[in-house]
Amino acid sequence: MTSRISIIGAGPGGLTCARILQRHGIPVTVYDRDPHPRARDQGGSLDLHADDGQLALREAGLLDEFFALARPEGQEMRLLDPAGRLLVHHVPAEGEFFKPEIDRGRLRGMLLDSLEPGTVRWGRALERVEPFGRLRFVDGTTVETDLVIGADGAWSRVRPAVSSAVPEYAGITFLEAWFDDVENAHPELADLVGQGGAMAADGDRCLFAQRNGGDHIRVYIVQRLPADWIGSSGTPEIRARLLDAFSGWSPRMTRMITENDGPYVDRPLYVLPVPHTWEHSPRVTLLGDAAHLMPPLGVGVNLAMLDACELALALAGSATIGEAVATYERTMLPRSVDVARQLENGVEGLLEAHDDSLVG
Ligand SMILES: Cc1cc2nc3c(=O)[nH]c(=O)nc-3n(C[C@H](O)[C@H](O)[C@H](O)COP(=O)(O)OP(=O)(O)OC[C@H]3O[C@@H](n4cnc5c(N)ncnc54)[C@H](O)[C@@H]3O)c2cc1C
Repeated sequence: MTSRISIIGAGPGGLTCARILQRHGIPVTVYDRDPHPRARDQGGSLDLHADDGQLALREAGLLDEFFALARPEGQEMRLLDPAGRLLVHHVPAEGEFFKPEIDRGRLRGMLLDSLEPGTVRWGRALERVEPFGRLRFVDGTTVETDLVIGADGAWSRVRPAVSSAVPEYAGITFLEAWFDDVENAHPELADLVGQGGAMAADGDRCLFAQRNGGDHIRVYIVQRLPADWIGSSGTPEIRARLLDAFSGWSPRMTRMITENDGPYVDRPLYVLPVPHTWEHSPRVTLLGDAAHLMPPLGVGVNLAMLDACELALALAGSATIGEAVATYERTMLPRSVDVARQLENGVEGLLEAHDDSLVG
């Protein structure tokens, strides 16, 4: 295929798609709004599943490299109660590789290093897709292309070319707290969390702590609140409000919200309406969060990479771009509608309280 293929977004979905296309000898250009690959913190740890994310990495020829970088011990999971007592403890078996963890930055680095030099054009923020697939960038430049793949995440600028749907606030907010050098600086927290994830909830609020590589821990503080609850509050004020909200919790647990290094990061959860589909267009398609933004319950990256893999393979195996896009969407759209329906109220489940009956 000698057509001009443009991917908007150098996230895990866009980069996986580019890598698999290049493995099949198909030229592709990726445009990302970030000025350079290290422009912002890429976020927490991700588990890549054997039946989707890892399948895509196999097609990308990167599975062994992934296993060399991944943290299988990160599959450890602890369910705690608000007093910090252990209710359930999953310790991964020796050789368990169903969903090892990898830091998002490492995954992005691995995918970027696998691409031909110059594949990604940094500092190119898309403004919109114009008729006949012309890309108009925020800097006023345009690029003609035969296929636009929107892999530009939750607030996709490609999406309006095929769909009028916009993400809606899910009513739940994640506030992120960050801990550095945990074995030395936060030993009690390191001990409480272990090598993977640890979570506790009381029906209205949840703390979800996650070990990251490089001796870091990231905590998501999950609450039902208006999207703009932080307003212009500074760190001390936010901390005081959190302490008030978690007043019934033991100090063993509240250190997750009081002893963090640096500021809190606000991540209100937005989702696309369910079902989200669109009329087939031979020049524009979407993958990952741009296509099906769902609550963050451990599937988003995996689905984005599976979409990317299936689209790239369809392009490699079809006579025309239009045929490839139709083949891809025939599988991707019903699958993402199914998963979105399953997860529609799932984020409420994070807040659900657990009790002693789970011990044992
Ligand atoms: C708090 C939180 C925790 C999560 N935890 C997990 C988890 O544990 N496991 C999991 O599977 N998923 C998780 N997710 C979901 C996951 O982050 C997403 O599903 C995943 O990143 C989607 O990948 P993507 O490639 O589609 O988009 P993104 O990762 O969002 O990448 C989009 C890319 O497009 C670029 N871009 C955006 N707009 C433009 C533009 N106009 N022009 C050019 N470039 C643009 C961005 O710079 C970015 O590089 C979590 C999400 C949140 C919010």
